[in-house]
Amino acid sequence: MWNLKQLADFDAKKHLDTVFADGEVTEPEKSDLLALYKRYVATNGRPSDELRAEGHRKELYELIHKAYGQVQDNGRLKQLRADLKLLADYCPYCGFAPISDLDHHLQRAHFKLLSIYPLNLVPCCSPCNAGKRRKPSDDPAKHQIHTYLDSLSNFDFLRAKASLHPKTGALKVQYSIEQCEGMSDELYRRLQLHLEEFDLQAKYNRQVNIHLGEHEHSMSSTFARGPEELRSWLVGTADANKKRFGANDWRRALFAGLALCPAFWSGGFRKALGLKDQPDWAAA
Ligand SMILES: [Zn+2]
Repeated sequence: MWNLKQLADFDAKKHLDTVFADGEVTEPEKSDLLALYKRYVATNGRPSDELRAEGHRKELYELIHKAYGQVQDNGRLKQLRADLKLLADYCPYCGFAPISDLDHHLQRAHFKLLSIYPLNLVPCCSPCNAGKRRKPSDDPAKHQIHTYLDSLSNFDFLRAKASLHPKTGALKVQYSIEQCEGMSDELYRRLQLHLEEFDLQAKYNRQVNIHLGEHEHSMSSTFARGPEELRSWLVGTADANKKRFGANDWRRALFAGLALCPAFWSGGFRKALGLKDQPDWAAA
């Protein structure tokens, strides 16, 4: 989740030549577009007037904007679409849903000249794509995290606080961002905004139930050897998820949070998962 490796070895000039094979876009204009792409990387894809790049002939904006139609399954740049979708197994915005869409990191309506630029195209799921804001903010602390260009790999920031309702025993998991050492206030706010913008708390609530249900047998059989065994299993599962999916994966945060919730691993997990029978060791 959060970061994806950039598409390797794409040839932006070739894309332009392929789409505009009939000369609708001139060579000097193509050079301007390539220079704009360079500025995009140099400024980490942050929204700016520079990247809006006003001042070209009006038709150019419409031509490039419309050219995104070629980045479809039967368009001239269908291979680009296929290559981008292969970059991720799961949506980088939420971390669990399958890839179905390409999102324009900088919105196509506002940054028309970046409509077919591969680094502005992020493979994602359709709920995340549909839920994203339509207009970029002017406030740098509200800029969307860039999946390719904002490296988050040095930070360990996603937390999940688990608790059981004192009466019903229902599990509550609250996701949050921790401002870890070396993280700027601005990045901290952008990460918090990411949770809100993509409605991740609500999405994770559903995923947590499904995911823990899949682990029910493992947790019950581990708990049969005692609560401390279950706590160790939760720690081990959090570590395994960290290795497999990264430090800020939602599953890693979940299991780490559950390991810090004694009410869960000392037996409350059964009620939280909707299990009614007593475990074997308690009956013995
Ligand atoms: Zn998603």
